[in-house]
Amino acid sequence: MRAFPIILSAPSGGGKTTIARQLLRRRSDLGYSVSCTTRTPRQGEVNGTDYHFLTREEFIRRREAGDFAECAEVHGNLYGTLRSEISRILKSGLHVIMDIDVQGARQIRKAFPDTVTVFVLPPSGEVLLDRLRRRKTESPEQLVARLHSALQELRAVEEYEYVVINDELDRAVLSVSAILDAEVVSRERVSGLRNQVEMLISRLEAEIDHQSS
Ligand code: 5GP
Repeated sequence: MRAFPIILSAPSGGGKTTIARQLLRRRSDLGYSVSCTTRTPRQGEVNGTDYHFLTREEFIRRREAGDFAECAEVHGNLYGTLRSEISRILKSGLHVIMDIDVQGARQIRKAFPDTVTVFVLPPSGEVLLDRLRRRKTESPEQLVARLHSALQELRAVEEYEYVVINDELDRAVLSVSAILDAEVVSRERVSGLRNQVEMLISRLEAEIDHQSS
């Protein structure tokens, strides 16, 4: 089975980053792709762990150099996934988990058609608004921009293969983990399946011949 990318998308405040972090803690078959962004770090965020924080000039330079597998502008800031991150993680045999927006998900799906896509939904509008307001890291204008992009994100839900409702963190993490477990054994991903089945068929055919002779 080849390692594959898995994308978590959600409207801002949907809790996908927390789900991704929890999954990384619980599973040894996953690696996290640290994105680049031009937004300023929030309190407690560490460069190189949460994001690679770049100036706009540096981001554009790297974009022009073709360093990004996907990139998008999300409420006024640039975000991008480094090709080098994805290939480093996949080469080490780990599935690569990405917490990216719907525009980025579209680009990654094109470049890596075997990507698994999961949309994380908040349980209600009130919970979503509450999570957005509790962030308190932004001006009212930035909050409105986030509300607009949350709308855009919600409208893209049908492009995703799986939907997980984040009403309770532990349950949501278990659901995404179950999706991963199922994908690992999905028919298309099982390597050597044809050979394995052909061997079983020849064994049965030999036995039938033997029994009927
Ligand atoms: P935040 O600034 O709150 O960390 O993230 C804002 C939005 O940008 C979220 O929807 C998040 O999923 C998205 N995002 C984070 N990293 C990337 C990335 O590398 N590419 C894209 N397209 N979106 C990203």
